[in-house]
Amino acid sequence: MSSFPAAARRVRDSAADPVARFWALRECSLHFPLYGFRATWHHVTEAAGVPGRLVDDPESLTRAVDELEEARRHWLLLRTTFAERRRREKAEGQRQPTRGDQWLSATSLAYCPDPRRHPDERLITVLHRLVDANLSEVQPQPACAVCGTSRPVSQYCTTCGVDPRGPSAALPRDLARELDKTWREIWRRTAQAPRLATR
Ligand SMILES: [Zn+2]
Repeated sequence: MSSFPAAARRVRDSAADPVARFWALRECSLHFPLYGFRATWHHVTEAAGVPGRLVDDPESLTRAVDELEEARRHWLLLRTTFAERRRREKAEGQRQPTRGDQWLSATSLAYCPDPRRHPDERLITVLHRLVDANLSEVQPQPACAVCGTSRPVSQYCTTCGVDPRGPSAALPRDLARELDKTWREIWRRTAQAPRLATR
């Protein structure tokens, strides 16, 4: 797999085969899976209006990668800022790992187990809200970091679909099977596009 910037360049290459651009977008979503790969893929392809027939609107792929990159750029900046602070604190001998450190080291920052149920807003907007909730010095409120619904902070949010326990939280077997099926349907719909584009 290539780096995010290299894959993003391939997505934006309007002279390239739309199928190659489609697979490059998949790589970008794997590199920055804010909601986990499946829900992130569903969100960016829906929001950008990636059509069933890719040839109808190949530039939708660029819109999708623009949204991903905007949020990823902000996340990278946060990581750099935190790494610098860590170094400074370590040098001063007052190194205590914080909640923010742990949160920023995750890749799926707002994991959504159901690929169709995730926040609808732009990724950067959700990321800003997550930052406010996870990186502020204030103790967390018993509410969802993304949508603000009151609930225990360690539980699945039935309003916006985020599960703060992340991908490792065990799901009941029936539900996991159901979600796998949902995912196959989503993937089939978008993966139809490359097939049609090559015809
Ligand atoms: Zn929520």
